[in-house]
Amino acid sequence: MPIGFTGSPLQRLEHERFDPDVVAHHRASPAAKLLDLDGLDPRVSESGDLSLVPLAEAVPPGDTSELALLGSIDRAPVFVRLPTGARGKPMFALIQLLGSLPPEQAATYGAARSLVDWHARHRFCARCGAAAAVSRAGWGRQCPACAAEHFPRTDPVVIMVAEHGGRALVGRQPRFPKGRYSALAGFVEVGESVEEAVARELFEEAGVRAPVSDVRYVASQPWPFPSSQLMLACIAKVESAELALDTDELEDAIWVSREGVEKALTNAPDAPFLAPPPSAIAHELLARWAREPR
Ligand SMILES: [Zn+2]
Repeated sequence: MPIGFTGSPLQRLEHERFDPDVVAHHRASPAAKLLDLDGLDPRVSESGDLSLVPLAEAVPPGDTSELALLGSIDRAPVFVRLPTGARGKPMFALIQLLGSLPPEQAATYGAARSLVDWHARHRFCARCGAAAAVSRAGWGRQCPACAAEHFPRTDPVVIMVAEHGGRALVGRQPRFPKGRYSALAGFVEVGESVEEAVARELFEEAGVRAPVSDVRYVASQPWPFPSSQLMLACIAKVESAELALDTDELEDAIWVSREGVEKALTNAPDAPFLAPPPSAIAHELLARWAREPR
């Protein structure tokens, strides 16, 4: 299974966003589609697919809806509406529906949701406060008062397996299902490298005071809840297994062998913990760690 929200067939047409004539051509194309969202939430067709409807029917001439050119799929231009004040359900309310979609469609939805949500939250210029207009075919906003340009943000999050003596650190948050443990995670702060963020989060959440070294990047995952995170999965070495948990963040944390992680990932009856679901990057991260030479 691919990592969740990756593998979209969307061609982003980044170089075409700047040319209003090309964008108008795409908008007038009989093949053009609208990715039909309900606010920020997906709509699903009777066939169980993400709802893509003919643009000319969904947005007839004279309809003044603001649109973003998401890109193209199978050469058909795909647009999405940018409604003011778009709202959506939280992740837990959508996760089952998203899991029922083909993974590549969930990935297209994730990109659309992040973009629509950014517009809904950034209607005004962050520099001077004037209402900012949609620019770059929906991939930016420009302020008519001070000319500042604003672009959709991606917020980096580190998610990591700390290893010590052949064991990996996994923790459980109070909100997790019973028995579930996962990799620790936290936002990268401004002025911080990935390596520094990994060390700080291990210290803040699990009280790892020992030096953290050999931080290795493993894989990444875009995550559209609440808007636009980018999960950066890492493996890091720590010099001591000593922990002092921040119980506001973690209810428990344990060190698990590769064999234990493998059992969890295969849902073995004697597994030491319940693994994160296969679409979660934490699952892939633990799987890659478990496969490394012992
Ligand atoms: Zn401005």
